[in-house]
Amino acid sequence: MTVSGSIELSDLKGVGPSTLEKLEKLGLNSVYDLLFHMPLRYEDKTRITEMAELRPLQTVQIQGEVVKAYIIQGRKPILVCEISDGLGLVSLKFFNFFYSQRIKMKAGSLIRAYGEVRAGSRGLDMLHPEYQHLQSASEPLAEYLTPVYPKSDGLSQKLLRKLIAQVLERLAAGQVDVTDHVPESHLQAHELPTLNEAIQAIHQPDSGTSTELMLNWSHPAQHRMMLEEILVHLLNLKKLKADIQSAGATALKIIEQQQQAFDAQLSFTLTGAQDRVIAEIHHDLQLDKPMQRLLQGDVGSGKTVVAAAAIMAALNNGHQAALMAPTEILAEQHLKTLSAFFSDKKLVFLSGSLNTADRRQALEEIATDADLIIGTHALFQEQVNYRNLALVVIDEQHRFGVQQRLALKQKGEASANIPHTLIMTATPIPRTLAQTVYANLDVSVIDELPPNRKQINTLLLSNEKMVQLAERIKKACGQGEQAYWVCTLIDESEKLHAIAATERMQELMEWFPELNIGLVHGRLKSEEKHQVMQAFVDNRIQLLVATTVIEVGVDVPNASLMVIDNAERLGLSQLHQLRGRVGRGNRQSHCVLMYQHPLSETAKIRLQTMRETNDGFAIARQDLKLRGPGEILGSRQTGAMAFRLINIERDHALINQARELAQELLETHPRACEQMVERWNQQQQDLAKI
Ligand code: ADP
Ligand code: MG
Repeated sequence: MTVSGSIELSDLKGVGPSTLEKLEKLGLNSVYDLLFHMPLRYEDKTRITEMAELRPLQTVQIQGEVVKAYIIQGRKPILVCEISDGLGLVSLKFFNFFYSQRIKMKAGSLIRAYGEVRAGSRGLDMLHPEYQHLQSASEPLAEYLTPVYPKSDGLSQKLLRKLIAQVLERLAAGQVDVTDHVPESHLQAHELPTLNEAIQAIHQPDSGTSTELMLNWSHPAQHRMMLEEILVHLLNLKKLKADIQSAGATALKIIEQQQQAFDAQLSFTLTGAQDRVIAEIHHDLQLDKPMQRLLQGDVGSGKTVVAAAAIMAALNNGHQAALMAPTEILAEQHLKTLSAFFSDKKLVFLSGSLNTADRRQALEEIATDADLIIGTHALFQEQVNYRNLALVVIDEQHRFGVQQRLALKQKGEASANIPHTLIMTATPIPRTLAQTVYANLDVSVIDELPPNRKQINTLLLSNEKMVQLAERIKKACGQGEQAYWVCTLIDESEKLHAIAATERMQELMEWFPELNIGLVHGRLKSEEKHQVMQAFVDNRIQLLVATTVIEVGVDVPNASLMVIDNAERLGLSQLHQLRGRVGRGNRQSHCVLMYQHPLSETAKIRLQTMRETNDGFAIARQDLKLRGPGEILGSRQTGAMAFRLINIERDHALINQARELAQELLETHPRACEQMVERWNQQQQDLAKI
């Protein structure tokens, strides 16, 4: 067997530095990536269709003698070339052409053309077909269906095909290793070809291959490739899990009385689901292997108190715990909530916006006597040294990039022990997705909301009806309720967001001179944000105008009205998160989604879904349908979960097959598993290490 990776892209003919760069831009970093670069569709140039057989809207290859060629003059000239095979006639029409093309189309010469047949005014047309001049009628046809690859900036289809053909040659010569590590018995049972056969069949399908199956991703060759992709992903994460498991962690003692005392100081009784997940977490923390757990719970399900129960275990054992939140507002709120729980411990706050002196002090305390450190991703910057960190809690995980998670992991590796990790998310990831994406994590689910929560009543309202809405807000706030008004912008820039929110606030102040109105956005200084939020918590402000910075975590139970401006601009999960800011107290809450006509089809579906359900899982499933898993997990930008072939919604059966197979292979063929993982894209592997 050849050593994997022995052939580089640069070894291929036609690959210079600029092509290499273009390939890399497409995420094609190795010959294996090329093999996994799947065609979007196929063109059948293996045969000629007789003109007498042609039907409009077929895409076919035809061949015939030029009868005549001429240019129809008009505002936009059209080149017409009539060709005939003796049994029928087709007019090839070109709207963009060179005069030299017309010259070459001599009567009696032979032309082969590929394109879609249309019913024209006088017989059949083919509009700007691909064509070539032939020397003889028996010039060879394509041997295989011609693959058409996804749009590839600056790289021609021809070049891609050539490069892939070269890799296929090397494959045939045994210079590229695609030994199939999936047992033959499995392939037979599922009627799948070997990896080698599958790769060949996908890039150079025999003329008999059903393009329809290919287009539906239901060809066995495609299934084999998809199986490989998902299998490697799962093996990768399982290996990562095993690696971390083999490192040590601090076993924490859980003292029953302390937990009871903790429960007793709460102003509420924990739900059954909270009790259960706390027990699951405590079980892990008592082991000397690092916990790697994902805690899922819909907005408002009470994850913070679960985190506190975990943190308590670390602190009571004399160890440090760190809690990381995705935004400063949320981190500050956690600081406040947890200060109440841990009044006898030393809490330290660290975020990017601390001034130099405060930052220096925080760093010093973290290295010495801090117990609980709360902050933003600044917690995992290089300069931060912990005294004896035993637990890391990451709140609202889906907001974090892979890089940060990587950094976090390395942080653990620097010391002898790896901290236990609890990742919390309100994105209710559907089961299959969770088990696939987080195959390296154990999953706990809070599947119950605290009692007495009322369903949030959601209304859709056209922007034009803003005045009626204003009346309603005035009345509600007059009766002691509090409201959020969220401004949205398509633009990503914090600055523009801040401007939009500021303008909206000024408008609202004119409308409601009697109300106290506050404003928070990402550009405010930490201290200012804090003051405004505090004023809202204390009910000194009745109406809080905000950008989407309040999306996650913010908890003000008295707020019962949420208005979202131009809600059609936001995705489902974001809308659900925002709406989750209300409905936390005993009052009936309302969420008003304002929209601007005209709505796109997806925007309509999103808004209707929001109106119809409060169930985070139902919303997540719909979101998955509309957007696909990459975007839901926020990984478009970060590159995690970059499945090229697998579609989590579509490929349930295959994913389940792969999960079983991965387990089986790990037990029976551990060495083969390693080889499989090593073989595919190195870079991809690093990213998968979440
Ligand atoms: P999330 O899961 O969205 O982070 P939080 O932890 O912010 O939810 O909790 C939402 C609100 O519910 C908070 O005000 C919290 O004090 C309250 N809460 C949490 N658990 C319970 C419970 N078991 N009974 C009643 N209220 C609870
Ligand atoms: Mg929360």
